[in-house]
Amino acid sequence: MSLIVQKYGGTSMGSVERIEHVAGKVAQTRAQGHQVVVVVSAMSGETDRLLKLAKAVNPRGSEREFDQIASTGEQVTIGLLALALDKRGVKARSYTGPQVAIRTDSAYGKARIQQIDDKRLRADCEAGVVPVVAGFQGVSPDGSTATLGRGGSDTTGVALAAALKADECQIYTDVDGVYTTDPRVEPKARRLDKVTFEEMLELASLGSKVLQIRSVEFAGKYKVPLRVLSTFVDGPGTLITLDEDNGRSAVEDPLISGIAFNRDEAQITVVGVPDRPGVAAAVLGPVGDANIEVDMIVQNVAGDATTDFTFTVHRNDFDRAHEVIKRVAADLGAKGVRTANDICKVSLVGVGMRSHAGIASKMFKALASDGINIQMISTSEIKISVVIQDKYLELAVRTLHKAFNLEQARA
Ligand code: ADP
Ligand code: ASP
Ligand code: MG
Repeated sequence: MSLIVQKYGGTSMGSVERIEHVAGKVAQTRAQGHQVVVVVSAMSGETDRLLKLAKAVNPRGSEREFDQIASTGEQVTIGLLALALDKRGVKARSYTGPQVAIRTDSAYGKARIQQIDDKRLRADCEAGVVPVVAGFQGVSPDGSTATLGRGGSDTTGVALAAALKADECQIYTDVDGVYTTDPRVEPKARRLDKVTFEEMLELASLGSKVLQIRSVEFAGKYKVPLRVLSTFVDGPGTLITLDEDNGRSAVEDPLISGIAFNRDEAQITVVGVPDRPGVAAAVLGPVGDANIEVDMIVQNVAGDATTDFTFTVHRNDFDRAHEVIKRVAADLGAKGVRTANDICKVSLVGVGMRSHAGIASKMFKALASDGINIQMISTSEIKISVVIQDKYLELAVRTLHKAFNLEQARA
């Protein structure tokens, strides 16, 4: 008998019929003799709807109140699934995050799980009861409900699996695994049998929303066996593995395992800043002080002893960052500030890059052959990212998918 944590996402919980289907899958796992803890998301679209309501009332409202509202979507689906299980003769009990003592910090809207008291869940499992836990939420130090950021139910699933030392954490979703890229953008994308934690971390942090990045960090840190599977079709899914070489020889190893993209960034350029030591700190210091994360950075030196300084931030932070930069530009005597919202970031990820040169130039050539202009570049050991105009996103993803032969079966 194993202990399995199963997380079902928004599409899987999207209607009464689908919830009945999920109940059938949980019942089947119980019938095979396993202990099961279930984590669920709100019905698809529900969290968006709730946040829109909140922002319609007060767009600058407090994050605590936003969380109070956004967290209710999961409170509905836990109850519905518990009812559906009960109807099938499977003993079940629903719990919100606070009710099972998922303790977080007080960073509302992006809270981090700090501690989980697993007593209640263990007692239920021992008694043959299936706990159905609300994803995406926990309780802050002052007793308020805090949410874990969009896609946070994945993290709830993995965190519970870690706390319970589960044999596997299964993330059930609307695709049957992790693909070489989002199959909605490139229908020729191929499912990967395995992907390393390191690659999955990069893919998630660069925009592949199939797993929330924190869930991957958690799984890596606590060595939780993690698998992504489809709620709707049976299959092996994708195993996220700690085993970097996956048992293949270096020769067979594909250089690139996937392509990620992100449409959520915006670009800000401070034009014509006097080029002297300390400029980067003078521009980015105040942005950091405002608690805004900067992603990519490029500095170009012009011939006239001035420099253009360009960086990207999350679109949610754009307005605040723009305000800060307008002040900084005036203080520095810059010529002006330019902004662009029509950009996106496309990234190639693969542990095979470590041992191979020439990937970047192949990437740039492929994009150039389609007339796609690269505005910014950043690299690390296992990834290359470029910023391009967002109207080219689909074209760029498909071009790179083809150029790197990602359609072919992985050795
Ligand atoms: P859930 O509601 O189950 O959490 P999400 O919408 O958060 O589901 O994540 C699943 C979606 O992630 C898929 O429908 C797919 O469009 C998208 N996706 C992005 N990149 C990938 C990838 N590399 N492999 C698989 N799916 C991906
Ligand atoms: N319901 C939340 C969201 O839409 C959490 C999740 O689905 O993982 O972001
Ligand atoms: Mg998700």
